[in-house]
Amino acid sequence: MSNSLKQAYDLTFDCVQCGYCLPACPTYETMESETHSPRGRINLVKMVAEGKAAVQDLEEPMEKCLGCMACTSVCPTNVQYGEILENAKEVLDESKPSGRLESFLFEDFFPSKTWMNRLGDATWLFQQTGADRITNRLPWNLPLHLEAFADIMPSMPSPVKRKRRAERYIRRRPAVKKVGFFTGCIMDSVFFESNESTIELLLRSGAEVVLPKSQTCCGALHAHSGKKNKAIELAKENIAAFEEEAFDYIVENAGGCGAQMIEYPSLFEKGSRWHARAVEFSNRVKDISEVLVEIDGLVFSKPIEQTITYQPSCHMTYVQKVVEPPLALLEKVPGIRLQELERPGFCCGSAGVYNLVQHEDSMDILDVKMQDVCQTGADQVVTSNPGCLLQMKLGIKREGMDSEAVHLVDLLMQADPAPRSLR
Ligand code: SF4
Ligand code: SF4
Repeated sequence: MSNSLKQAYDLTFDCVQCGYCLPACPTYETMESETHSPRGRINLVKMVAEGKAAVQDLEEPMEKCLGCMACTSVCPTNVQYGEILENAKEVLDESKPSGRLESFLFEDFFPSKTWMNRLGDATWLFQQTGADRITNRLPWNLPLHLEAFADIMPSMPSPVKRKRRAERYIRRRPAVKKVGFFTGCIMDSVFFESNESTIELLLRSGAEVVLPKSQTCCGALHAHSGKKNKAIELAKENIAAFEEEAFDYIVENAGGCGAQMIEYPSLFEKGSRWHARAVEFSNRVKDISEVLVEIDGLVFSKPIEQTITYQPSCHMTYVQKVVEPPLALLEKVPGIRLQELERPGFCCGSAGVYNLVQHEDSMDILDVKMQDVCQTGADQVVTSNPGCLLQMKLGIKREGMDSEAVHLVDLLMQADPAPRSLR
């Protein structure tokens, strides 16, 4: 038995088969089968380890798991489902050779700032030429259903603006906090303007903001696809990048990246030097909402007379356990009528690249989420993760709603935030 399978197998014994997790699991709800429930997946891992099922039998149920971790929030015996899932993915990854496209995506594309900038620049060109308006009228589908996303992409900044961004910002001396900003891959290529808003909010709060040059992808996609060695390599690069200066916090604005980074210690052997460095790193990782609430340096003067609902990122809720700070910030904005979702903890179906590689299943899950969103009558749907943001934009388009989906930081910028001490 491989090491990964042994680790997953040992953890399956914590499951007492109670089934409390079933109503929390989006794939159990939409696919209506035990195989696509947390309990069913755990059983399957046990059966593979005991030789009662083949490794290939794991493939479909594990690939269709969102990795949302809603099941862990209701489990009475605290089953470490995340570790079971990642080890099972590793077993699957070891059992088949990587294709060329997969190798390119995981080895070259996602870890590379150059490729991310190229993606942003290519999308800008695509938008400038108007090609984004005709892709969904083409008689054929683009790979990975990309035509569904073409006309919901935000407006891209020009390559010149992207290049002009500084690596260090300070307005108030002495700064109230010194933060290292983790810019992310998709956030920095597709949602560059939201990263600009994040920097601006921190500056107006009185913080010094530094963007360490050698930071890289957080490694979440790699870890969740069974590519643990690459995830470790990326974690080491980020830990070293943010050790270059003494930051009070390492701030991120993407729930998925934040969750991965606070879990860096689990990638290293306890007692090792890297484990200690990872603990020190992860203790300083904070979502932007936590830092803005803690500094409390902004006053919002422009009322937003709208109904707003907040779609929390699963990784922020169940892994980072950051629930209140985004809501606390929204409550500070005058005029907002905050309408909470009936089931905020139900995944939107984005889940990394799930909405690309499991598109139909993702859309079934999105349809359930959108029933809830529609009932709020929201003018703006606010979220804190690039995947959720794209998925909400897609859901709004599918439902024909007259609403917008925005990142929390962009909503806050609409309310004209000013430094508290200057008012
Ligand atoms: S991680 Fe989400 S989709 Fe996967 S089993 Fe748990 S609740 Fe279901
Ligand atoms: S709630 Fe926990 S113990 Fe119960 S079936 Fe689900 S994973 Fe197993």
